[in-house]
Amino acid sequence: MKKIIIYLLSFIIICFIIPALLTKQNISSGADINETDKESKHIEENIKEYNYNKYGTIKLLHQDTGNVEEVKLDEYLCNVVSGEMPADFDIEALKAQAVVARTYTIYKVQNKKHENADICDNSSCCQAWISKEDRLNKWDEGKRQSNWEKIQKAVYETSGKIITYDNKPINAFFHSNSGGTTELPVNVWGGGTDLPYLQVVETSGEDGYTQYSSEVEFTNEELLEKLRGTYQDITIDFNNNEDIKILEYTNSRKSKNSEIWKS
Ligand SMILES: [Zn+2]
Repeated sequence: MKKIIIYLLSFIIICFIIPALLTKQNISSGADINETDKESKHIEENIKEYNYNKYGTIKLLHQDTGNVEEVKLDEYLCNVVSGEMPADFDIEALKAQAVVARTYTIYKVQNKKHENADICDNSSCCQAWISKEDRLNKWDEGKRQSNWEKIQKAVYETSGKIITYDNKPINAFFHSNSGGTTELPVNVWGGGTDLPYLQVVETSGEDGYTQYSSEVEFTNEELLEKLRGTYQDITIDFNNNEDIKILEYTNSRKSKNSEIWKS
């Protein structure tokens, strides 16, 4: 009787369980192939749709020397990403930074600001850039190679990927901390900068990091002097509470709950 049960079990294992496992493996590796296919097709579509190949090289202006250097886009992006984000951040964060930096670069190529160059290396004008030599020297010797390889992985694994709106690269601003809520560009820079893809959104989890909030102290005279830079005839009675008060908040205030905004 025992033997019959063993034979029966063996029969079930050979006829059903092993083929089922093999089929499952095939199905999952088939799915992987499909995912990879989809991925590379997506990149190809990106390249085709945005004529990405024409951005193979870009002209980079070095602000301190005035030299214009022609560099391969993804090589340039390694210098940008390593200048914008610490290499010990998660690889997915570095990849997101690479996509944003690539998008910003192509936006700049299409909306030129400099006469003989596509973009410059000054972060307050265009986008941060650091030479590979300077970058490596700032890292501990033991981490130089692995850090640089991680940056390259983030850039090359996202190659061809940009963020678009209405089939055009978006103006991809980025920040290290937005203080819990983003703000409409029009409220920051004024003018007609209405970008429908940049809206007020809450960004939770930022309160434990630097730049979440800041405080500045001025004397009455310093404040007056600053205000007179824009409003020449302004006078303030500092003994009158009504002379300085908050009249209105932007929409980002509505999603704020922090104490600092209540005062
Ligand atoms: Zn610039």
